[in-house]
Amino acid sequence: MITAKFGGTAVTPRNLVHLKEIVTPYHKCVVVSAIGKEYLNDTKTTDLLIEYYNNPCDAVWGKIEDKYRRLVEVNAIDVDVNALLLDARSRATRYSLQYCMSLGEELSARVVAVFLKAQYLEAEEVICFDDSGNLDEENTYRNVNERVKGAQLVVVGGFYGGSKQGRRTFSRGGSDVSGAIFAAATNSSLYENWTDVSGVCVANPTSVADVETVASMSYGEMYLLSLAGAEVLHPDAVAPVEQKGIPIKIGNFFKPYGKSTLVSACPSFNKLLSIAQKSQDGKIVTTVLHSYPQWRIVKLISRFLRKNTSKLEFFGKSREVSSLKLYNLQFSDNIVRLTTDISILPSLYKSLIE
Ligand code: ASP
Repeated sequence: MITAKFGGTAVTPRNLVHLKEIVTPYHKCVVVSAIGKEYLNDTKTTDLLIEYYNNPCDAVWGKIEDKYRRLVEVNAIDVDVNALLLDARSRATRYSLQYCMSLGEELSARVVAVFLKAQYLEAEEVICFDDSGNLDEENTYRNVNERVKGAQLVVVGGFYGGSKQGRRTFSRGGSDVSGAIFAAATNSSLYENWTDVSGVCVANPTSVADVETVASMSYGEMYLLSLAGAEVLHPDAVAPVEQKGIPIKIGNFFKPYGKSTLVSACPSFNKLLSIAQKSQDGKIVTTVLHSYPQWRIVKLISRFLRKNTSKLEFFGKSREVSSLKLYNLQFSDNIVRLTTDISILPSLYKSLIE
């Protein structure tokens, strides 16, 4: 049995078609996000919903409607989208901001359920938060199993659940967490997480050309990378599946049989696992995860720093590169952290692959 989660770019009008190539009779649960960006400067549905909650006007709701109307029209889905949108709008500002933010996932799931001829499952009725806002694992797992048992395939909205005070969401990107919870609750043999990039790459593929996909890595490595800024998976999506030993496959829905990353209990075979960047206190912190011997990584980083002194001087460290400490470098076990300019990624990548 497989649980699959599809991110916001997979459920856009143009890309939804790929779900039919991916979902097989082995799939039991499909978890979907709200419609994401359709082009570079587009706004995600969740951000439009936040805007609408703060300023409930026709102009903003119109943008949300447009996305879901096109999703239904382009894919010829037999669903009364006007009724769905009218109902969602009537609830959008009636409750909390988090309730409003959950509506994108709810709408996606209602539409995708019809598209895949599957049973719609209301996330609010199965995923339970306790009074402190933490997941109530026992009740959630029981609910999921009860509701999934007799069904061939269920489709559920990610990112939210219910509590005594009404709907609550996980933090942004939290549909990954919902997917992991469904996989764990149903003891799935695999948790598939489908995005628009081919798994976890050694560096951000939008900044570095021809970057390698990491074929496999451990749960711990994936968690560290998520914390360091790799945006492929929400860090809280690791624990539920790790506890049950369920592997995560991170794949590209555009190329379902292409390269992907398998996250399991086995550590990566790569010497250079990944370079992730995150902005922190107005600075870019670059984290390098590797399994080089310490002397080797120090040598590679020193070489890189010597070559790139001028760029790094930008950060006010204009003294000579005689000490690695000058660049706020931190070495610990298999991690190196340094404060850098975002544009150094391609040259850092080149210096660190052998
Ligand atoms: N739609 C939510 C967000 O934009 C959750 C998700 O996509 O996972 O953060």
